[in-house]
Amino acid sequence: MKKQRMTKRSGGRSRGVFQRNHKVFGLAAAMLLAVILCCGCHNPFLLEDVETAPTDEPETGTAVEESSQTPSTGEALSEESSGSLTGFTICLDPGHGIASASKQEAVSPKSSETKPAYVSGAVGNSQTEEEVNLAVAEKLKAKLEADGATVIMTRTTHEATVSNIERAEMANEAGANLCVRIHADGSDNKSIHGISVLVPEGNLLGTPAIMEPSRSAGEAVHDALIDATGAEDHGIVVRTDLTGFNWSEVPVILVEMGFLSNDEEDAKLATDEYREILAEGMHQGIRNWLMNQ
Ligand SMILES: [Zn+2]
Repeated sequence: MKKQRMTKRSGGRSRGVFQRNHKVFGLAAAMLLAVILCCGCHNPFLLEDVETAPTDEPETGTAVEESSQTPSTGEALSEESSGSLTGFTICLDPGHGIASASKQEAVSPKSSETKPAYVSGAVGNSQTEEEVNLAVAEKLKAKLEADGATVIMTRTTHEATVSNIERAEMANEAGANLCVRIHADGSDNKSIHGISVLVPEGNLLGTPAIMEPSRSAGEAVHDALIDATGAEDHGIVVRTDLTGFNWSEVPVILVEMGFLSNDEEDAKLATDEYREILAEGMHQGIRNWLMNQ
C-alpha cells in the first residue's frame, strides 16, 4: 500500500518541480502556460461530452501520518490538486437507500420490461450497503471538490426514495462528465471477496455513445482502485441490464467495492481507514481519466 502511494506521489512531485521550474521564467509565462493547458485539456472534452449527451481516515491516523512524513510531497500534491478539475462535473450515486415506497420502472427507454425502482442492497454483519455506499461517496465528494470539480450527489441521506431512472436523470440534467455509481456486493458464497467495476453495453442503452467513454473511465477507476486497495481483482464487467446505465446519457460506471457477505471484507469495509483508501483510489482513477481525455 505504501509503495503504491509513493508511486502516486512521485507523479505529484514531478509536476511540482515542473511548475516550480516554470516560475523561474516569470509569472507571466507561467500564467500563459496555464491558459494554454486549460484550453487544450478541458474545453475539447466538454464540447465532446455535450455532443455525446444531446438531451439529457484510517483512524485518520494514516492520512495525517502520510502527509506529515513527507511535507514537501504533500505540498506538491495540494498545489497540483488545487483547481485542476475546475470545469468538470461529476455525479456520485451512492447506491440504494432506505425507501418508503415501491414501484416498477422501465429498464430502458427502449424497452417496456420493468424492474423494481427501489431495491435494498447487500447486508453484512458490520453494516448495510446503503450506509457504506454513502460514506465512501461523501469522502470522494470532498476530494473531488478540493480539486475544483462540481459534484452532485443522487442522495445525501440514508432515507432516500430515489429510483434508478431518477438517479440517471440527475446526472443527465447536470451534464455530468461522468457518473460514478457506488455499491458493495453480496453473494451466497461467503468466500468470494474483491472489487469489480461494471460498465454499460448492449442494445438497451438509450445513448449508445456513452459505451466507449464509460469503458475507458471504468478501466481507469478499476486500475487505480486495485492499486490503492490490493483487493482481489474481479475486473471490468459488462452489463446490459442495469436501469441506471440504460437511462444514462452521460458516461457512467458502477463500482462494486467489495463483498459484505465475506466476513473479512465486510469488517474492512466498515473501517474509516479502508473507506478512505477506496475513496482515494476512485479519486485518482477519475482524475486520471479526466486528464487523459
Ligand atoms: Zn448495490
